[in-house]
Amino acid sequence: MATDIEIAFPSLSANDISALRKFGSEIPVAEGRMLFAEGDRDFCFFVILEGEVEIYETSRGQPHRVVIHGAGEFTGDVDMLSGRAALVNAKVVKPGRVISLSADALRQVVGELPELSEKLLKAFLMRRALLVKSGFEGMRIIGSRFNPDAHRIRDFANRNAIPYTWIDLEVDPQAESVLREFGIPASDTPVVIGPEGQLLKKPSNAAVGEMIGLTAHLDRSEIYDFVVVGAGPAGLAAAVYAASEGLRVQTFDSVAGGGQAGTSSRIENYLGFPTGISGAELAINAMLQAQKFGAHITVPANVTRLRAEGGDRIVEFDDGTSVRCRCVLVATGMEYRRIDVDRLQEFEGAGVYYAATEMEARLCGGEEVVVVGGGNSAGQATVYLSKYARKVHVVIRGTDLGKSMSRYLVERIETLPNVIIHRESHVVSVDGDRRLQSLQIAKPSGETLTVAATGLFIFIGAVPHTDWLKGCLQLDKKGFVLTGQSLPPESLQSSSWKSVARAPMFLETSLPGVFAAGDARSGSVKRVASAVGEGSMSVSFVHAHIGKL
Ligand SMILES: Cc1cc2nc3c(=O)[nH]c(=O)nc-3n(C[C@H](O)[C@H](O)[C@H](O)COP(=O)(O)OP(=O)(O)OC[C@H]3O[C@@H](n4cnc5c(N)ncnc54)[C@H](O)[C@@H]3O)c2cc1C
Repeated sequence: MATDIEIAFPSLSANDISALRKFGSEIPVAEGRMLFAEGDRDFCFFVILEGEVEIYETSRGQPHRVVIHGAGEFTGDVDMLSGRAALVNAKVVKPGRVISLSADALRQVVGELPELSEKLLKAFLMRRALLVKSGFEGMRIIGSRFNPDAHRIRDFANRNAIPYTWIDLEVDPQAESVLREFGIPASDTPVVIGPEGQLLKKPSNAAVGEMIGLTAHLDRSEIYDFVVVGAGPAGLAAAVYAASEGLRVQTFDSVAGGGQAGTSSRIENYLGFPTGISGAELAINAMLQAQKFGAHITVPANVTRLRAEGGDRIVEFDDGTSVRCRCVLVATGMEYRRIDVDRLQEFEGAGVYYAATEMEARLCGGEEVVVVGGGNSAGQATVYLSKYARKVHVVIRGTDLGKSMSRYLVERIETLPNVIIHRESHVVSVDGDRRLQSLQIAKPSGETLTVAATGLFIFIGAVPHTDWLKGCLQLDKKGFVLTGQSLPPESLQSSSWKSVARAPMFLETSLPGVFAAGDARSGSVKRVASAVGEGSMSVSFVHAHIGKL
C-alpha cells in the first residue's frame, strides 16, 4: 500500500506528461524564479521537466521547507481547483524547464483525463493533510474555549479546511503574551491574526474568509443560468450536474460546503461507502468534484432574499450585493431544534452543541456528556461520543429507542458499556459558569438526576433555513418549501405561471424557474442520499425551464 508521502508526491509517467503538454506550454525557468507565492490566486500548475522547485511556507515566521519537486513531479494542492489563495511558495532552486498550465486548463485536465485526475486529486488532498500535520500554523485564533464566537470561528475554519493555530485563553500560557504584544484586552477576544499579521477582533465569518483569501471574486454583472443557494449535499450535487452539463452555475453558502452532512462524524448509510465516510471527507470530496467540473462555489455568502424581475430571478446577499439568473435552487437545508431550557443559548458553543464532530468530541474527552434525541443523528453521535467521553447519557421522551432510530444503531448502542439510556425523560435545566458544567434530567419517577455533564448534544428535529424566502415562495406550516403537486392551486394563478403556460415540475416552487431540493423542501426525506438525488434531478428541470424561455 502506498504511503502518505507517496500519495502526496507521486511522479508522473511519460504518458501523463505528454497528455499534460497539450493543455499548457513549456517554459524555461531560471534559478530564484518564484512560480507562485503565498496569497496568490489563480496561480498556475507546474510540471517539472528538468531542474528543481522548492515548496516552502512561512507561517511560523521563518521559511520552512515543505518539499523539493524534481523532474516528473508537479506543484499544487486543493486550492488550485477552488481558486483560493495559495498557502505556500514555489521557488526554482535549480534551473530547468517546466510545463505551465493555468488553473482553468488544470480543471479541464481533471475533467477530461480521469486516471490522471485521480492521481492529482489524491495528491492535492494528501498534501493539505500533511501540511496541516507538519506544524503549519496558518492564522491564529485566540479566545476562550467557552466563548461561542470563538467556537463559531473555529467551526468555520475547520469546515473550510483553513489551517489555523488555536490559542486557548483558558489554558495556553502563550495567549496572554500574544494579546499583550498586540495590545488587546481579553474582552476584545476572540481575535484572529492573519498570516501577514492582520488583526481582526470578534470578526464575522465573512471577514475571516476575506482575510484568508477564501472569498471568490465574482462577476456580479453576469446573468447565470442557475444559482444554487446552499452547498450541502443537495446544492453540491446540483452544482456537479449543472456544471458537467454546461450550465453557467454559481453556488453560494453562508458557512461552508458540505452542509449538515459535513458536520456528521460518520455517515454509514450512504451508498457506495461500505465502511462509512466522515462528513468532512464527503464534503471535501464533493467540493473537489464540483470544482473539477468547473462549478464555482462562493463561501461565505449569506443569501437574504429572492425576488423576480420579469423572467429573471434575483438573489440578494447580506452585504447588499445581488446576482441575476434564470433559475434558482433552494438547497438551504435546515438545522436542529433547541430544547426549551433557561440559559441554553448562553452555553451554545460552550458545552451545548447541535453536531458531534471531532472538535466537540475532543472538548468533552474523559467527561460525562448528554445526548438528547432518539433519531439517527442522536444515535450516531452517541456511538461516536462514547469513544471519547467517560459516560454518555441518552435522553429520550419515549420508551423505545428503536422507534425512530435505525436498528443497526440501536444494536450498537446497546453493546456500549459507557452509554446509559434515560427513557421518558427530559433535560430540565443547564448550569455552569461561562460554560456548561452540569444539567438536570427529570425522570418518569419524578426524581431529578443531576449530571456533571460538560457536553449537551441536542438532536430533536429541525427548523428549515427558509426565512429568506418568506413573502416570495409558498412554504408549509413548518416553513419548508412547497413544490410540485403540493402547491395550493391558488398559488398557480399568478402572471408568472400564465407566462410560462405549464404546470409546475416536481421540484418547482410557487415561482417558476425556482426549485427546491433536500432538507429545505416540504415532504423530502431528510437524508444525504435523497438530498443528492433531488439536487441532481433539479438540473433536468432547469434545462426544461430554460429551454422554454
Ligand atoms: C449530525 C448529523 C448527522 C447526520 N447523519 C446522516 C447520515 O448518517 N445519513 C444520512 O443520510 N443523513 C444524515 N444526516 C442528514 C443529512 O446530513 C441531511 O439530510 C443532508 O445534509 C441535507 O442536505 P441539504 O443539502 O438538503 O441541506 P444541508 O446539509 O442542511 O445544507 C444546507 C446548506 O445551506 C447553507 N445555507 C443555509 N441558509 C443559507 C443562506 N441563507 N445563504 C446561503 N447558504 C445557506 C447552509 O450553510 C448549509 O451548508 C445527518 C445530519 C446531521 C446534522
